[in-house]
Amino acid sequence: MTQTIPFGRPQLDDAEARAVAEVLASGTLVHGPATHQFEERFAERAGVPHAVSVSSCTAGLHLLLFVNGIGKGRRVAVPAMTHVATAHVVELMGAEPVFVDVEADTGNIDPVLLETVAPTLDAAFVVHYLGLPCEMDRISELATRHGFRLFEDCALALDGHYNGVKAGALSEGGSFSFYPVKHMTSIEGGMVTTRDPELAARLRQCRAFGYDKPLGERAKPGFYDVTALGFNYRMNEAEAAVGLCQMDKLDGFQARRTENFQALADELSGIDELSVFPDRKGKAVSSHYCLTAVLPRDGSIDRDAVAADLKAQGIGTSIHYPNAVPLFTYYREKYGYKTGQFPVAEWIAAQSIALPVGPHVTIDDARRIGQAMKDAIRRVCN
Ligand SMILES: *Cc1c(COP(=O)(O)O)cnc(C)c1O
Repeated sequence: MTQTIPFGRPQLDDAEARAVAEVLASGTLVHGPATHQFEERFAERAGVPHAVSVSSCTAGLHLLLFVNGIGKGRRVAVPAMTHVATAHVVELMGAEPVFVDVEADTGNIDPVLLETVAPTLDAAFVVHYLGLPCEMDRISELATRHGFRLFEDCALALDGHYNGVKAGALSEGGSFSFYPVKHMTSIEGGMVTTRDPELAARLRQCRAFGYDKPLGERAKPGFYDVTALGFNYRMNEAEAAVGLCQMDKLDGFQARRTENFQALADELSGIDELSVFPDRKGKAVSSHYCLTAVLPRDGSIDRDAVAADLKAQGIGTSIHYPNAVPLFTYYREKYGYKTGQFPVAEWIAAQSIALPVGPHVTIDDARRIGQAMKDAIRRVCN
């Protein structure tokens, strides 16, 4: 029996175990050196002066809106195809998500459709869908022309770049995820990147209750003032220690992802029934989160049957995401969205299949996944 290849598997070994044990033994579980060091290394990697660690990508997305006061009465563009977190943080702020359908060849927010709502917007979240950066030249130009704020959901875009600029440095601020099966993990965790020192300072303050001074800068221990409203959205030292170990391994992870993507894309090229989302388009180069193949729009090939066939062959797959966000029950009931309003996002939700390319996948596995996909399509079509 050949081994099952899961969609994702965190790459952890003795290094992480030792690092966590050291944190526990040190007694400094929060507000310590590991978070500080993780922030510095991450900022350098992303090519920005400031990185602010947080408890999750979602916390970071929420903070970006919160510290900029984008709340009640404001309208924030969100792609119809994304993780629900991107829309939920807009709702949590009491602002209104303005859903925009996505491009059929990438799953990224469609700049043509974004332009139609641009005059009504206060802000927009771009999501670099599965790691391929959005068309930032056009989107940034729209933001400047119509005066709306621009932020990035970089959860799956670590090391993705556009015109040589990394994701997270392509807007006012970007939020990354270290959830277990993302490019690297800190168990749970996130990082907000920005070029703006004032924004970074406000993020730091509001991730920790709105204290005027962080722990290490208080003249008298325990004394502080509170000058803003804030959350408890901090990352802890054990998480940061895991994150630092993962950064040591990140070049290796990313090289495997790129190689696996190429090998798998080669295997799948020339299958008429499939469109594969590219890892490059124009100035954008992907972070290679996964390889996404989309089956025909007419539904002539049953995606769930293909996924079940792959599972039987020992190949794990994933779906990003199971529905267009405005068609999830919460949004449908609140705003009255109907099936058919977001045709491309609905197609991707119904007919896409995400194949693994992560560092747990060997090059031979990648070829095996390609062959299994061909076999699955042949069987499901018969
Ligand atoms: C995973 C993911 C999130 C949520 O990240 P957390 O760290 O779990 O909060 C948000 N947006 C996208 C696009 C994601 O893939």
